[in-house]
Amino acid sequence: MDILKTLKKSAIALAAGCLVSSLLSAEAVIDRGGSIESACDESLGYLKSYLKIDTTNPPGNEEKGAEFLSKILQNNGIESRLLKSAPGRACVYARLKGNGKKKAVILLNHIDVVPAKAEDWQHDPFAGEEIGGEIWGRGALDMKGFAIAQLEAMLLLKRSGQILERDLIFLGTPDEEIGGKFGAEWFVKNHPDLVKDAEFLLNEGAFIDVSSEGKVRYWGVAVSEKSVLWLNLTGKGDAGHASMPMSDSSVNKLVKSLSRIIENPPPAVVLPAVREYFSKIGPTVDEPALRSAFSDIDSAVKNPLLYGEILKDKMKSSMLRNTISPTVLKAGYKTNVIPAEATAELDCRLLPGVQKDDFIKSIKETIKDPSIDISVLDWVHTDASPFNTDCFKAISSVAGKEMPGVPVVPMVMPWFTDSHWFRDIGIISYGFEPFEVDPQHLATMHGKDERIPVAIFRKGVRRLYEVLEKLCVQPN
Ligand SMILES: [Zn+2]
Repeated sequence: MDILKTLKKSAIALAAGCLVSSLLSAEAVIDRGGSIESACDESLGYLKSYLKIDTTNPPGNEEKGAEFLSKILQNNGIESRLLKSAPGRACVYARLKGNGKKKAVILLNHIDVVPAKAEDWQHDPFAGEEIGGEIWGRGALDMKGFAIAQLEAMLLLKRSGQILERDLIFLGTPDEEIGGKFGAEWFVKNHPDLVKDAEFLLNEGAFIDVSSEGKVRYWGVAVSEKSVLWLNLTGKGDAGHASMPMSDSSVNKLVKSLSRIIENPPPAVVLPAVREYFSKIGPTVDEPALRSAFSDIDSAVKNPLLYGEILKDKMKSSMLRNTISPTVLKAGYKTNVIPAEATAELDCRLLPGVQKDDFIKSIKETIKDPSIDISVLDWVHTDASPFNTDCFKAISSVAGKEMPGVPVVPMVMPWFTDSHWFRDIGIISYGFEPFEVDPQHLATMHGKDERIPVAIFRKGVRRLYEVLEKLCVQPN
């Protein structure tokens, strides 16, 4: 709750004038027959009910969630369809028609959630309760909260009676948490016709970033995620009695190779979106050395001292380079037997645009041992969406009005979402959740005690509505 107080204070201090304009915009909606405040009340009710539907994946059972969302859309006069991808699993798809002057916008959300161990939580993860000014439940942040904000923003636009220049598509999908085989991947392969006219997509990914002291640092817009490359390294050699060591044993070869990989991490590469990210957050950083380093990140990464400082931040450093994490190691079955084979699995995350074969070639050059066999366990390639677009501008405009001076920054996320399926078919896809999230709440996603403060959820509904109004509504 402290964070809310602080946020409230900083919002007043930062944006007193802009609150007036945002209130004016709310008034305008009330005049058009819809009230944002009552819509927020309504959407809080929807969220609590939605959190009660257990869509833990596996197995998912997302059809129940899809039916719930579909019913709300239907009850509000928006036709919706359920698209079954597997037994008990379904997408929900709905379209609010515009005049077709511009291309459509998709609001994408996943219906499934990761498992929650009830005994670890302070409150029942599937009760959807409001406790201490927060809505508790698995999915409150990831991502049933944002799904309901998307739904409510769509209802508000319909009720406002304004003329839309773009169709607005609501798409809820199953199976995101396990890769999307029965969700986004299935949808894009089986129903690409339903979104072929879309220009933009808004999905989970980045948030409005808040420090642990409650300071809003920036509005993040994920323009890409890193590609996933999982590799298997195998060292082979003679088996033998461990009392007589062999310098070229499978284990020795593998350990030397891993050591070279760890000692020689991939170099920094500054992508245009990442350069923009650092230059925009630079002025907001308190520490003077980092402030100037961020404003000229290309030079900073060449300065070992500064680069070392930047690398201490896992999130920021992940945007600056390809990464390699050795995870699974397997060799041997008995202490006194040298095994003939030793293997290591590497989780590599590559910056958008980096090709698998080029990266494997660079690993071979690093390990300098042609006898080590490298095979690919998994490869999911991603590209980046541009950030000089009407959608990015709409988000920036809403942010600028509410929080002048707080930057809106493009980001390359280290983790994965379903956005890449849609980038693959040419849709500019952004990860943008209009909620302030501090480190404490961020840790509850995929963790225990997941929850979203009511005040922050309400502000998110309003912000998303304002972004969509700017992006979709025909100007007077
Ligand atoms: Zn998610």
